Amino acid sequence: MITLKSPREIEAMARAGRIVAGTLTRMREIIRPGLSTEDLDAAAEGFIRSHDGATPSFKGLYGFPKTLCTSIDVEIVHGIPSSRRVLSEGSIVSVDVGVQLEGLHADSATTLAVGTISPEAERLLSVTQQCLAAGIAQARVGNHVGDIGHAVQKVAEAAGYGVVRELVGHGIGTRFHEEPQVPNYGSPKRGPRLLEGMTLAIEPMITLGSPATKTLGDKWTVVTADGSLSAHFEHTVAITANGPRILTAA
Ligand code: MG
Ligand code: MG
Repeated sequence: MITLKSPREIEAMARAGRIVAGTLTRMREIIRPGLSTEDLDAAAEGFIRSHDGATPSFKGLYGFPKTLCTSIDVEIVHGIPSSRRVLSEGSIVSVDVGVQLEGLHADSATTLAVGTISPEAERLLSVTQQCLAAGIAQARVGNHVGDIGHAVQKVAEAAGYGVVRELVGHGIGTRFHEEPQVPNYGSPKRGPRLLEGMTLAIEPMITLGSPATKTLGDKWTVVTADGSLSAHFEHTVAITANGPRILTAA
């Protein structure tokens, strides 16, 4: 069932979203070669819990042990922060975070550069952000979920990149993952119709090579099957009468 949120609920999600955005800003400020993904996680958890009533959404969700998902280079999503994973110059890291406040969730991800990265990686990050922007632009009353995916796919494939299909965006609200699923591919006017009050996490996962994935032995980390670089950007968006409203904007 797709739930529609009241204006009051959307404002609460926006408050959670501001903490999410603040967390990602903090990550951008501190990221550098030599830092471990556990260091990022500890800083993120401390930042979130410094806000009254806010808790990390991921911790304990389906048994996930940490506040962040940190996914380096060929890792697409769901990497587990660890003191053994130390960031190196030239890497890219997807940092994904959710915050619960007043019983409602917000979810966002960004892919950060560690030091100076290759022109290829720069372009992948830039195109994946364009994919997210194109998807968000379609999050309008009267459109369908397929319009979002179609817009993301068009930008990615025009750049020659792969669109991950096994993982998708999602509705979000009192539960972290709600209906509908929001794929990053699709056809215009297909899928559920978008209604005022729907809140969606839109999250393109884009690869330099083939979009095929595999899951590592830790049962969490999803990587590209061909070892190509991957990027991931995400915002939580409310469908309003005035168009898409990004709830996790900095
Ligand atoms: Mg996320
Ligand atoms: Mg999400």
